[in-house]
Amino acid sequence: MSIATSQVYRLLIICALLAMLPAMQVQAQAQPDPPLVDSIRPWHDVDGKLLTKSRLAYLDGDRAALWTESGQMLHIPQAQFSAADQKWIAEHPLQILRGKVIFVADGDTVGLLDANKIQVRIRLDGIDAPESGQAFGTKSRQALNDAVYGKEVLVVYEKSDQYGRILGNIYLADRWLNYDQLIGGMAWHYRHFNGDAYLAQSQKRAEVEKVGLWRDVNPMPPWRYRLNEKRQNEMEEAKRTADPMLPTGYWLNTSSGVRHNSKCEHYGKTTRGKYCDADEGKPCGQCGG
Ligand SMILES: [Zn+2]
Repeated sequence: MSIATSQVYRLLIICALLAMLPAMQVQAQAQPDPPLVDSIRPWHDVDGKLLTKSRLAYLDGDRAALWTESGQMLHIPQAQFSAADQKWIAEHPLQILRGKVIFVADGDTVGLLDANKIQVRIRLDGIDAPESGQAFGTKSRQALNDAVYGKEVLVVYEKSDQYGRILGNIYLADRWLNYDQLIGGMAWHYRHFNGDAYLAQSQKRAEVEKVGLWRDVNPMPPWRYRLNEKRQNEMEEAKRTADPMLPTGYWLNTSSGVRHNSKCEHYGKTTRGKYCDADEGKPCGQCGG
C-alpha cells in the first residue's frame, strides 16, 4: 500500500466516524428510566425494636417527620432512633424553604413568596400534572389551588431542575401535596425522572380505584401530550415556511429583492414575488419592509 493510499483510507475512516456522531449523540440523549427504589424504610429505636416503616419527610427541630406507608405523618424525636438511623439522617441532608403560596400555575407548579419576599417557582417533584389543554388539566390545578393557595407551606428539596426551578416536596400541616395529587388521580408519577417506588405504587392505587383522571378510558400522559403538541407545531411551522402562498405579513419582490409589509401597496401585488420572513430581502423605502 502506498503512502498516498493509506492516507486516503485514514481519511475515509475519519469520515465514517464523523457520520456516526449524530446517531451516537441521539442514543446518549435517550436516557433509561431511573431504577425504582423504595423511599419507605424501617426505623428502629435505640434498643433495635422496629418503630415504623416510613419515608423521611423533613426534620422539624429535634423531631423527624416520617410519612408512613398508609399515608400518615408521624413526628418522632430524633433521640429515639437507633444510632444507625441517626447516621442515615445525617447522610441524607434535605433543604427546607418556608413560604406563602401566591399562585398555582398548574397541578404540579406553584409560586412561593419566601421569608425574604423573594418569589420562587416550585415544581412538585416526582409528579406530572395534565396540561391545561388536557382532560383534568383544570381540575388538577384547582385541586392544588384549593389545598395550598394563600397558605404557608414547607418545601423540602434536594435540587433545582434544568429550568432553574426548585424540584420539591410540599407539605402543609400533616399533608404531603405531591402524594395528594397522585392519590387523588390529579397527576401522573413522573416515572422518566423519578424512581420512587412508593409514588409509583400510589399512582397504581389511584388507577385501580379509578379516581380523577383514571376515570377516563385512555388517559394520555402529559409528557406524550407535550411531545405531540411540539411535533404538531413543528409540522405547521414546516408547512408554513414550505408554502410560499401562505401569507406571512411580508412580501418579497423576487425581481428587485425588496421586502414590503402588509400595509404597503406593493404587498402581494408585484409581478414576481412571494411571501417571506421579516428578515428576508432589503426593506422597502416607502413602507419600511
Ligand atoms: Zn413597500
